[in-house]
Amino acid sequence: MTNQYQKLVNTGPAREVAKRLGLPRPAELRRFSPGEPLVPGPVLVLGSGASADPVAEQLLAWGLDVYRHQPQGRRLGAVVVAYDDVAHPGDLADVALELGPAVRQLAPSGRVITLSRPARVRDEPAVAAARRGIEGLLRSLARELRGGATGNGILLTDGVGADAPSAVAALRFLLSGRSAYVDGQFLTVGTDAGKAPEDWDRPLAEKVAVVTGAARGIGAAIARVLSRDGARIVAVDVPAAGGALSSVANEVRGTALQLDVTRADAGHLILEHALERHGGLDIVVHNAGITRDKLLANMDEARWKSVLAVNIESQLRMNEAFLDAGRDGLRIVSLASTSGIAGNRGQTNYAASKAGVMGMVEASASDFAELGGGINAVAPGFIETEMTAKVPVATRAVARLLMPSLMQGGLPVDVAEAIAFLASDAAAGINGETLRVCGQSLIGR
Ligand code: NAD
Repeated sequence: MTNQYQKLVNTGPAREVAKRLGLPRPAELRRFSPGEPLVPGPVLVLGSGASADPVAEQLLAWGLDVYRHQPQGRRLGAVVVAYDDVAHPGDLADVALELGPAVRQLAPSGRVITLSRPARVRDEPAVAAARRGIEGLLRSLARELRGGATGNGILLTDGVGADAPSAVAALRFLLSGRSAYVDGQFLTVGTDAGKAPEDWDRPLAEKVAVVTGAARGIGAAIARVLSRDGARIVAVDVPAAGGALSSVANEVRGTALQLDVTRADAGHLILEHALERHGGLDIVVHNAGITRDKLLANMDEARWKSVLAVNIESQLRMNEAFLDAGRDGLRIVSLASTSGIAGNRGQTNYAASKAGVMGMVEASASDFAELGGGINAVAPGFIETEMTAKVPVATRAVARLLMPSLMQGGLPVDVAEAIAFLASDAAAGINGETLRVCGQSLIGR
């Protein structure tokens, strides 16, 4: 992210003034570009869990410098913690106390990643307490990290090892600059489905991907990132956005489909276009969305119904069409929002639709899995667009105080990177999940 405020508080004498005044000084986040190193330094693997050895081997296979004990005098690119053997809260201590000194050596935009097991209701209470304890530890540590560093976790469900394709892909995603604005989150790997791509820099090679609402904003960024990762793009948006839609489609050498996604036959028309023009349909990103904010006390029928129609009802209908057509291996990623998790004043309609997306994704997971595919959601937080760039510098500085972890909004590309990861075959073991891309700005789970 480059903006005046960030430059001002990080350079010259203003840096010292900002420091003394306690003003937020957002770091420039490390973002992905093909061919760049996966992490900004060596990786320390801590913990005695069963995942420690396979993870260390995987990191070595990626050509990284791997240590099992803290190397003296070296800045660490990442610390990976194999915490999958804890059975009692007392078991957390040794590794937690080793992790403390290690994070002091973490390089800017470094990573802390835990591998652990999710707590289940049928666990012994002490086991569940220890497992949930890791979540509390990691989320709090993520808030303590500075310089663009992040902390995230991978939850391996029963029978899934750290060498499962989606665990490996999640590890790579979380280490890389692709996850720049993902912070304080846990990704659950439910099965050992999936396969690693031949080229990690082009994980979507040969795929045909439909992106709705692609004429601008986050949708245009998704089209660009999926295309960079190798996919052929069908860019969809309303006829009124036709001009902008064609320029995005041309830029990514894809095709444009002018379509209002609330049409009853939208799913059918998307399928027809993708099959006729590209010979397949592998990925659908339900990104088209609208807001019509009003306090519920002043809400009218048109505002309520239009938001629900675009943001959730259209997706339900299109998914039904895709399932009816039996598209093997189809991977869907849908846009939720942190408003749908924490609620937001003036957004009852929008939050209902976005919470609805998360419910839909959970309930559709097994239907898509039966066809060898999957469905997940991404919930963005505050994303900086041309619109938010117009907000006065001082107002943005205050807003950043409310984002204590990374002290900045995300960029459309950050949302797009998470979507590209979930759309890839390597993520097939992750299904029915919602991944937040919010820089840990949201209070709560
Ligand atoms: P945007 O308004 O810039 O773009 C949305 C696009 O969707 C537009 O091009 C619009 O024409 C298109 N669209 C709207 N209705 C449509 C319809 N019926 N059929 C086809 N296309 C339609 O929005 P954005 O900020 O880029 O947001 C994209 C998605 O991300 C939305 O689902 C939004 O709810 C979600 N989101 C955004 C943020 C944020 O901070 N910007 C945060 C959380 C979630």
